[in-house]
Amino acid sequence: MTLVRDKLFIDGRWVAAQGGGFIDVIDPSDASVYARIPEGVPADAEAAIAAARGAFDSWSRTSPAERAQYLERIAAGFQARSDELADAIAHEVGMPLKMASRIQVGGPLWSWQHYAKLAREFEWEARVGNSLVVREPVGVVGAITPWNFPLNQITLKVAPALAAGCTVVLKPSEVAPINAFILAEIIEAAGLPAGVFNLVTGYGPVVGEVLASDPRVDMVSFTGSTHAGRRVAELAAATVKKVALELGGKSAAIVLDDADLAAAVKGTVSNCLLNSGQTCSAHTRMIVPRAKVDEAATLAAAAASSFKVGPALAEGSRLGPLVSQAQRDRVVGYIRRGLDEGARLACGGVDAAPAGAGFFVAPTVLVVEDPKATVAQEEIFGPVLVIVPHDGDEDAILLANDSIYGLAGSVWAGTDEHALAVARRIRTGQVDVNGAPWNPLAPFGGYRQSGLGRENGVYGLEEFLEYKAIQLRPR
Ligand code: NAD
Repeated sequence: MTLVRDKLFIDGRWVAAQGGGFIDVIDPSDASVYARIPEGVPADAEAAIAAARGAFDSWSRTSPAERAQYLERIAAGFQARSDELADAIAHEVGMPLKMASRIQVGGPLWSWQHYAKLAREFEWEARVGNSLVVREPVGVVGAITPWNFPLNQITLKVAPALAAGCTVVLKPSEVAPINAFILAEIIEAAGLPAGVFNLVTGYGPVVGEVLASDPRVDMVSFTGSTHAGRRVAELAAATVKKVALELGGKSAAIVLDDADLAAAVKGTVSNCLLNSGQTCSAHTRMIVPRAKVDEAATLAAAAASSFKVGPALAEGSRLGPLVSQAQRDRVVGYIRRGLDEGARLACGGVDAAPAGAGFFVAPTVLVVEDPKATVAQEEIFGPVLVIVPHDGDEDAILLANDSIYGLAGSVWAGTDEHALAVARRIRTGQVDVNGAPWNPLAPFGGYRQSGLGRENGVYGLEEFLEYKAIQLRPR
């Protein structure tokens, strides 16, 4: 049965969208209509901005301890509805349920708890010479988020913005929005004052562009494609808004000559295939010593083929479908283009997906000679690993840095020291050494066209703060 959400959350109340239209949310595992949500119009976004503006003065003057209490209540509500959130994300994103529960819900829950703690511990004021330097909320935040890790991306904006004392208008992805409706109910139940948090759904060029351009919004925090991020930044420039952008990537896994090749390939394949390759920081270019390309391709093909492809709610599925027919077509198009340009197919390919109505693509490994090949340069956003040969450390560093993106990457070497020396030379916001684990306290964000600013931990909180220096007379 199709789930229907017919109201937006504006100024503390659930209200009908002014346009009256609806958007279908498709379950990518079987192409059925999972849910229906309001298609917001500019007037809805404007009402939400007015509410956030109206709530800002008093919310920004609450104490950090008071805000921490609200965040703790939200975290508790979030925990209580974790199963429901995981189920929604499995249906709308297509990530296998157990993984969705651990990564797509467990991660954000931790972040809500963490930002409550940070609100209490953060140094909100400091003395510098005769100045009192205070950290103040930026103001009204427009948050625009994508579908791939939807609740994580929402949380990494909304939780620190609220902790900072900002008010928020959230425009979640129209592709995976149900988790955002549940979150809005959790926030409502936590008793936040009206207007502090508002939810407006709809299409980016309609609702999102209002958030980016309205002069009453002080900051726009965007996660999504580089294409849309550029548009958001252009619109925001007219009123010199603060802009945070978390955009695309084409991250490299560098395998050096002395690395444990089997471990490096296994680690890279797992990283690349997470969420069916729909991860902005996925290590999708594996740069390996030229003499070891064939061995690496054989190992990668074996590792990738072992991922069981299937519906998100089927027992044993490890790799779900792509999120939509459009995304599937895009990824298949890239695989075809890669083969046309001379790539060798080590496994997968366009005809290898399981039958059924879902938007499946089999895990695919391509080997290219030319590091400038389209599939070695452009973000594919699907389960496709591209192997590129290198001729030594210096060449590998050049190849890794030869990208318009700069989000993440990894270095695999015989010793951590060797890997670290190379990691220091990679121009990206994150680099993992020899398969080291994800750290939610570490800054996350991109160099070059991967974005502006950082999320996670204290770095994410600071994005939503201004500095103000108050000069005091020497005593
Ligand atoms: P998208 O850019 O199509 O959409 C992202 C959000 O922006 C959606 O809410 C959408 O409605 C909105 N939007 C679209 N056009 C807009 C416009 N003109 N003005 C305002 N808002 C607009 O991206 P997507 O397909 O949802 O997500 C996939 C992309 O996101 C990939 O490129 C991926 O790399 C990137 N991404 C980056 C990060 C990161 O942290 N760097 C994280 C996840 C995803």
